[in-house]
Amino acid sequence: MVKESKIKAVAAFSGGLDSILAVKIVMDQGVDVIALNFKSFFCRDDKSNKGSAGSSINRAAGHLGVEFKSIDLGNDYLEMVRNPKYGYGKNVNPCIDCRIFEFKAVKKIMNEIGAAFVITGEVLGQRPMSQHRRALYLIEKAAGLEGFILRPLSAKLFSPTIPEKKGWVNRDNLLDISGRTRKPQIDLAKQYGIIDYPAPAGGCLLTDKYFSTRLRDLFKFGKINSKNIELLKVGRHFRISDQFKLIVGRDEQENQRILNLSEKGDLFFEPLELSGPSALGKGNYDENIKELSAKIIARYTSLNKQVKVLFKILPESKELVLNVFALEDTKSKKMLI
Ligand code: SF4
Repeated sequence: MVKESKIKAVAAFSGGLDSILAVKIVMDQGVDVIALNFKSFFCRDDKSNKGSAGSSINRAAGHLGVEFKSIDLGNDYLEMVRNPKYGYGKNVNPCIDCRIFEFKAVKKIMNEIGAAFVITGEVLGQRPMSQHRRALYLIEKAAGLEGFILRPLSAKLFSPTIPEKKGWVNRDNLLDISGRTRKPQIDLAKQYGIIDYPAPAGGCLLTDKYFSTRLRDLFKFGKINSKNIELLKVGRHFRISDQFKLIVGRDEQENQRILNLSEKGDLFFEPLELSGPSALGKGNYDENIKELSAKIIARYTSLNKQVKVLFKILPESKELVLNVFALEDTKSKKMLI
């Protein structure tokens, strides 16, 4: 007797409770699930967003017993964030374009591995920009996945999808959860005995107000590359002129990180004979800008007197020393991004 092969599905898997439950509901119907997690420049740099061994996403996939793949969204994602067709949410979060971008990547993998449909933990009405009915339809149509995206937590609130019509999953075992409340999901997790899941926190920096301000500034004045995006996550940023930005470390670790992310031609500053922050200057400058930068650095040293600030052009120009007094707080705050 020939054994019938199992239907395969891919899941857009964040490792959060909703995606865990969505996978569980479909797995329990005998479908083989492969969990896909997206990585972009804007994922928060914490364990829950890394595909590394021991991260909570990996652990969640391991507990479910599903195969896990991490997908790097690459440089084209940056271009999408800069010019989203459907605009931004409250911050620089282009959620509709982002989901279309991600689902296009999912479709590619789906075809490569012969998966029949896509599972997501999306809940109708949970997120204002990308999870209302019109947006969800728009996203799946634009990604070329019309009818192929199954949202087990809210499926009964939508017309039956292809996996339901084909009998790959039983609609009776799907749910009708909607809105922002988490209670039904938490109750369901208890029923399944699922206890190890991360709290729902924004894993995406594009929804962060402060990060968005820095990113907008970079889009307006800076050079967009991976190092400059990484730098937005570190230190204090000062827009000194349209053409010059100063990034000041807040501790030893950040001082080192800033240096690691420097590029040829950047300016490097650090206080001499005193402990204090290192700083990186990026862009075109003149003597005034150089002095102003040194004064900002002096502001973060421990002394309230003239400070010597070492200055050089990276990687290896001659080192110079500037003698400056700290800039008043009110003036430096005006330049803070
Ligand atoms: S919150 Fe971030 S990752 Fe999520 S859809 Fe919006 S832009 Fe994409």
